[in-house]
Amino acid sequence: MVAEHKEVILLIEDEPQMRRFIRLVLQGQGYDVTEAGTGEEGLREAALRNPDVILLDLGLPDMDGLDVTKRLREWSNIPIIVISARDKEMDKVSALDEGADDYLIKPFGSGELLARIRVAMRHRAIQRSGQRESVIIAGDLKIDLSKRQVFIGGDEVHLTPIEYKLLSLLAGNAGKVLTHSHLLKEVWGPSYAHQTQYLRVYMTQLRHKLEADPARPRFLINEPGIGYRFKPDIEK
Ligand code: CA
Repeated sequence: MVAEHKEVILLIEDEPQMRRFIRLVLQGQGYDVTEAGTGEEGLREAALRNPDVILLDLGLPDMDGLDVTKRLREWSNIPIIVISARDKEMDKVSALDEGADDYLIKPFGSGELLARIRVAMRHRAIQRSGQRESVIIAGDLKIDLSKRQVFIGGDEVHLTPIEYKLLSLLAGNAGKVLTHSHLLKEVWGPSYAHQTQYLRVYMTQLRHKLEADPARPRFLINEPGIGYRFKPDIEK
C-alpha cells in the first residue's frame, strides 16, 4: 500500500524539528515532499512545483502565513492546510476566510495530519478532473446535486430551499471548514454575514432531518466559534 502515492506536498515551515517530523510522516506514506523555510521561498516553490497540497505555518520569519495564503489564492486553488500553534478562533477564521481549506493546531498527531491530507487530495483530484461530483454519498446519506434530491437510506428527505442550499454547499466542500460568514453570505446574501443565529436554527433543522442522533452528528460537524464542516465518509 505504501509508496503508491506520487503526490507532491509543499511544506512551508521554519521550525526545523517540526519540518523534520512532518517530512518523515509524509515520506513514510510515499508522498513527494518539497520544503520551504520562508513565505517567499514557499510562494516560489508553489509556482515551480505546482504541488497537490500545501501545508502552511502561520508564523514565518519573513511574512505572515495569512499573507502567503492571500498571495497564493491570487493565482492558485491548491488546497492549503494551515498548521499553527495559534489556537485563537479569530486566527482560524482569518486563515479560512483568506482561502485556506483546513486548519491543524500544533501539536497534532500523524494520523490526524494524514487524514486531513487525504481529504485535501480528494478535493485536488476533483478540481483537476474539472468536474464536480453530481452525487455525494456519506454513509446512508445521498445527495443528488443534479436532481436536488436528498436521501437517507433510500428514502427521500424533503428540505426547504435554504436547508438544501446550506447542505449542498457544505457537502460540495466535504471535509473543508466553512466559516459562519462564508456560509451566511453564500446562502442568505452579503448583508447577512453576521446573522449567525440563522445558521444555528437551520443547522439544527438539518440535523433533525438527516442525523440519526442530532445531538451527536455524523455529517454536520460544528467547529465552535468558526463554522461548520461536512464530514465525508473517507475521514474516519
Ligand atoms: Ca513558525
